[in-house]
Amino acid sequence: MSGITHDYMEHYIRSLIKDHNGILKELEDYAHSNHVPIIHKEVAKFLELMITIKKPLKILELGTAIGYSAILMSLSSKENSLITTIERDKKMIELAQGNIEKHGFKNKINIIEGDCLEVLEKLDDKYDLIFMDAGKGHYNHFLNHCVRLLSKDGIIIADNVLFRGMVATDELVERRKITIVKRMREYLEMVSDSEKFITSIMPMGDGVAVTTRRD
Ligand code: SAM
Repeated sequence: MSGITHDYMEHYIRSLIKDHNGILKELEDYAHSNHVPIIHKEVAKFLELMITIKKPLKILELGTAIGYSAILMSLSSKENSLITTIERDKKMIELAQGNIEKHGFKNKINIIEGDCLEVLEKLDDKYDLIFMDAGKGHYNHFLNHCVRLLSKDGIIIADNVLFRGMVATDELVERRKITIVKRMREYLEMVSDSEKFITSIMPMGDGVAVTTRRD
């Protein structure tokens, strides 16, 4: 379990979420057998909920992996929605591209190859929803770009913000994760600036922060 909430709580919440079938189940099985990190079950449900409420037409994702969350978001979105997703690992890109083509998402999901920061610097479109799920040690560096790329009432959903509990207490911090933890704390402090943003941080999965810009 994620270590940021009680196991019994997580277990109970997950037991209420119906298992996927079809393509999502296939991708979950692949991810689990091949140790590819994908969003937790309750975070997947949360993304579905946010997309259903918000109805974003343009979505930007940082961190494609095998394309699981991109496909899940596409399935929850309106027919004319478009997802751009950034990934730097060539093997992941190949797998994700295969999944996207095999299951008919070629016109809805576009993968950009490269490092998130370098790609973000070059993007100039506007996105209604930005899902951060790559480069945990750089969310603080991604933020300004994401804010620049966010449409007027857009939202940024950042996963793993509590990072196995380490972000919330020094007692859990592993030595070699100190930099990630410090930078993640910086990200959470930045988005908690209530003059600029409204942010809610939830101890769900590995920690999720949802941010929108103040008018
Ligand atoms: N969102 C995916 C899902 O739930 O299906 C999982 C993404 S996985 C947690 C993170 C991915 O981000 C990995 O595939 C990794 O190669 C990629 N990644 C990590 N840091 C990155 C960076 N700085 N730029 C681009 N991709 C990055």
